Amino acid sequence: MTTIDLLAKIRPAWQVRALRRLARGEGLRESLQKQLERFFDLLIQSVETGDPAWLDPLLAEWVQSTTLTELESQESSLTPVINSLLGVTYEVLSETPSPDEAFAALGELLPLFAHAIEYVTRCETEQFAAHLAAESARSKEDLERLDKSKSDFIAVAAHELKTPLTLIEGYSDMLRERLPQQLAVTDAGQLLSGIDTGRRRLREIVDDMIDVSMIDNDLLAINFQPVWVDRLLRVVEYETAEIVRSRNLEITFHPFPGSNEMTYGDGERLLQAFRNLVNNAIKYTPDGGKIEVNGRMLPGFIEVVFIDNGIGIDPDDHQRIFEKFGRVGNPALHSSSKTKFKGGGPGLGLPITKGIIEAHGGAIWVESEGYDEVKCPGSIFHVLLPMRQNPPDDKTAKLFGQEQETARITHAKENS
Ligand code: ADP
Repeated sequence: MTTIDLLAKIRPAWQVRALRRLARGEGLRESLQKQLERFFDLLIQSVETGDPAWLDPLLAEWVQSTTLTELESQESSLTPVINSLLGVTYEVLSETPSPDEAFAALGELLPLFAHAIEYVTRCETEQFAAHLAAESARSKEDLERLDKSKSDFIAVAAHELKTPLTLIEGYSDMLRERLPQQLAVTDAGQLLSGIDTGRRRLREIVDDMIDVSMIDNDLLAINFQPVWVDRLLRVVEYETAEIVRSRNLEITFHPFPGSNEMTYGDGERLLQAFRNLVNNAIKYTPDGGKIEVNGRMLPGFIEVVFIDNGIGIDPDDHQRIFEKFGRVGNPALHSSSKTKFKGGGPGLGLPITKGIIEAHGGAIWVESEGYDEVKCPGSIFHVLLPMRQNPPDDKTAKLFGQEQETARITHAKENS
């Protein structure tokens, strides 16, 4: 008897047993029965032609009918189903009267089942990979949407806050001007100073929000002019001297090669970036701690490093702190002062700093062993800025072309 004849003979028993083994519920039996009949038909066809690919369309259909939940849980796979069908085939064949014929049939059927398992595994892997790719594209879209809403929120809120803030500033200035001299030192004067402090802080926050939304929308204008890194750092040193003293911090601005060389950059913006980094070092270093600003010259670049022995940053947060509102830890525990230890802020300083540095063609990153308020492992912020011998745009080149040489000589003389 040929394998085809043998298959025809075992078909009724195979059908009943396969159905019993695979059907989990009464409702499933009818559709499963049809599927098993199709499988058996195609199995016969594969034996007749010697081509296992006859099974592929049905197997592909089975894979496609796998639900999303099954895919995600990765629990369901068709491999055990094919294995069960092979098991049933083996059982039914072994019950036939001629072991030799059964053995010969098995020899023909085994490669077909092996092909089916290999095909199903491949299809499932492809389907799962496609599912993961779609998921990741969806997550990326969600993140982009979220980032866009953050951006929109910042832009709208900054705009809406600007008008009332300007009113507060105007009226409090007028009030101060009208306050009789003798009252300026009394309660009224103190109350006005309180309003001044608040409005200045609010102005800084609104300005930060405007800067962030400009950076987000690629609108940050960089006015390239001749700048010297050491001069900018000297300004920051001067600005922070008072708070450094009051917090009993030790801060050292080291002279380093290249810092007294002229390059092109936006002085105001670079100052803002350096100021943010030094203020952060102050804010996240306990009273009595040490801060150093140092650097080095690299081919085509100058690197400035801001080193503190403060609370440090968890490696998992090294990227996140450069994102908008990328504050880490519990914001509720922070004081609202800008320079006190762990003083608060909206979490916009570093994204702005990054935006400024990148707009100059530079890079910024942080190095820190981790976050520990007791051991204080510290942080090192690295800023890499391109050294530009020439202004990057024609306008600046025209404006500063002749001045460049004079400025370089003057500064060299000043530093000699
Ligand atoms: P802000 O200081 O307003 O919270 P930033 O954008 O300047 O926002 O900083 C984001 C976060 O990065 C901070 O909340 C803080 O957790 C962390 N961070 C920044 N600089 C330092 C530093 N020198 N040491 C430890 N943590 C820092």
